[in-house]
Amino acid sequence: MKIKFMGAARTVTGSCFVLEAGGHRFAVDCGMHQGNAEIERRNWDVDIYHPDQIEFFLITHAHIDHSGLLPRMVQKGFRGKVYTTPPTRDLLEIMLQDSAHIQEMEAQWKSKKSLRRGDERTAPLYTRKDVDRTVPLFEVRSYEQPFEPLPGLRINFRDAGHILGASLIEIQAEENGAPFKMVFSGDIGRPAQLIIKDPSIVTEADYLFLESTYGNRNHKDEAASLDELAEAIRYSYEHREKVIIPAFAVERTQEVIYSLHLLAKDGRLPGDMPVYVDSPLAIRATEIFRRHADYFDAEARKLLNRGEDPLSLKQLRFTETTEASVAINEIGGPAVVISASGMADAGRIKHHLRHNLWREGASIVIVGFQAQGTTGRKIVEGAEKVRLFNEDVAVRARVFTINGFSAHAGQSQILEWLGHFENRAMQVFLVHGEYAAQQVLAGLIREKFGFPVLIPDYLEESILKPGEELKRIKYPEKAAPRIDWAYLMGEMEARMAQIRDRRKELETRSWVEQTEIRDRLMELNRSMTEIISEI
Ligand SMILES: [Zn+2]
Ligand SMILES: [Zn+2]
Repeated sequence: MKIKFMGAARTVTGSCFVLEAGGHRFAVDCGMHQGNAEIERRNWDVDIYHPDQIEFFLITHAHIDHSGLLPRMVQKGFRGKVYTTPPTRDLLEIMLQDSAHIQEMEAQWKSKKSLRRGDERTAPLYTRKDVDRTVPLFEVRSYEQPFEPLPGLRINFRDAGHILGASLIEIQAEENGAPFKMVFSGDIGRPAQLIIKDPSIVTEADYLFLESTYGNRNHKDEAASLDELAEAIRYSYEHREKVIIPAFAVERTQEVIYSLHLLAKDGRLPGDMPVYVDSPLAIRATEIFRRHADYFDAEARKLLNRGEDPLSLKQLRFTETTEASVAINEIGGPAVVISASGMADAGRIKHHLRHNLWREGASIVIVGFQAQGTTGRKIVEGAEKVRLFNEDVAVRARVFTINGFSAHAGQSQILEWLGHFENRAMQVFLVHGEYAAQQVLAGLIREKFGFPVLIPDYLEESILKPGEELKRIKYPEKAAPRIDWAYLMGEMEARMAQIRDRRKELETRSWVEQTEIRDRLMELNRSMTEIISEI
C-alpha cells in the first residue's frame, strides 16, 4: 500500500491522504488548503490528485479543512462515492454550499477589480452547481458498522469526539495476503467536551496517522475557561461594549451557546445582554444538531430529557439577513456577538471586528485554533493593529484566548489517547499540525512509548509493507520550491538605482507631480520597514 500526503503535512489545513493498492486508488479526507496566498494556490492545482482516478473518498468530518475540496474534485472529474456518517453528510450539505457561496463572492469581487484593470474575469474555485453534483455522491455509514467498499478492504467509522458526526477511521487491508491495520485519527476531540461524546479508544494499529494541532500545548480546564468567558462578559457589560466571538458555525458556535446557557443558569450572563448568532450557516447547523440529538453525550441528553434545551437562551437572537447583521453594529450597548469565520479571515465576523477591535471596553474572545497567516492568529499574537477591508484597525479591545473550549485534544490528551495502543512497533505519522508543535509531540511520543514517529512533508509518499522497513519518497523541489532571494533583491536594488539616476529629472517636475511620486515611494518605504520588523 502506498500513501501520499496531499495536505495537512507540517500544516493544519488541507487534510487529504491518497492511498494506492492493487490497482485501486482512494483517499481519506479532501480538505481545503487555508492560510496565505501561496498555500491557497494548492486548491487550484488539483490535477496532481488525479481526481478522475480516485474511486472513493472517506470523509472524517464536516470541517472545510477536511472536506472543502470535494466539489473541486467533482468539477475535475471525480465520479466515485463519498462515504461519511449521517450527521457529517447533513452538515456538509450546508457547509459546502456556504463554501461555494464564499468562492463565488470572492471571484466576483476579484473580477470587478480585474475587469477595471482591463484583465479577464476570475473564475470561482467552485460553484453551488458543483456542490449540487457532489451531494448525490454521499453514502452514509454509521459508527461501528464496518463496510467493504472494495474486496478485502474493511472500513470502520468510530466516534472521534471532535464535532457532531466526526469519525476516526480504521482501515483493515491486506498486503500479499498478510492483514494489517491503519488508523486515521481525523481530528481527535477534547474529552469532556460539551454536547458530544469522548473520543473512542483504539488499541490496535500497524500504522497510525495522528493529528497534532496542539502537540506543544495543554488546555486549561473547562471551569477556568468558563470563568474567563464570564470575565469577558463582565468587563464589556460594565463598559457598555460588545463581546465579539469569532467561531466556526459548526460545533464551536453551538458549544459557545451551551456555555452561555450554563453561565445564564449561574446568573453570570446579564439578562438584558442580547446574544446574537450572526451566521445563517450557524442557524442551520444548530437545527442539524437538534435533529441528531442521539449523537449527544449523556449530560446533554439528560438536559434534553428534562425539557431543557442546552442550545437555547432567553436572549438569543439569530440574524439571517445582511441588514439584520449590519443593524447589530448600529445598536449601542452591551451584547455578545458570535459570528464566523472562526479564524476571522472571511465572513461577517470581519465587519464586527472592524466595528469593535479599536474600542476600549470591548472584548474579543478567541475560542478555536488560529492558523498561521490568519487575522485571528495576528490578534492572538498581540498585533497592535490588523488589516481589515484594506484598512488598518487598532487592537484596543481586551483579547481573551480561551483554548479550554477547543474541539481538539491538547498535548496531554493526545498522549493519553495514544497510550491505549498496544503494538509497540506501530509506526506513527504526525499530520495536521505545525512543524514546531509536531517536533515537540514526536519527542514526547518516542520518550514515553517508544513508537517510531515520522513527520511527513507535503507531497511525500510512503510505502507501507508490514514487517518491512518503511520506504519514504520525498519531492522537496515540488513541496517547497526554492525562492531565489538573491535574484529578487538584485532586481530591487537595480530599480532603486534607476530611481536615484532620475532624481535630477524628477526635481524639474511640477510640485504636485513630485508630491505624488514622493507619496508612492513613502508607501514602498513603509512596506519595507514593516518587512524588516518581521525578519
Ligand atoms: Zn476539525
Ligand atoms: Zn482539522
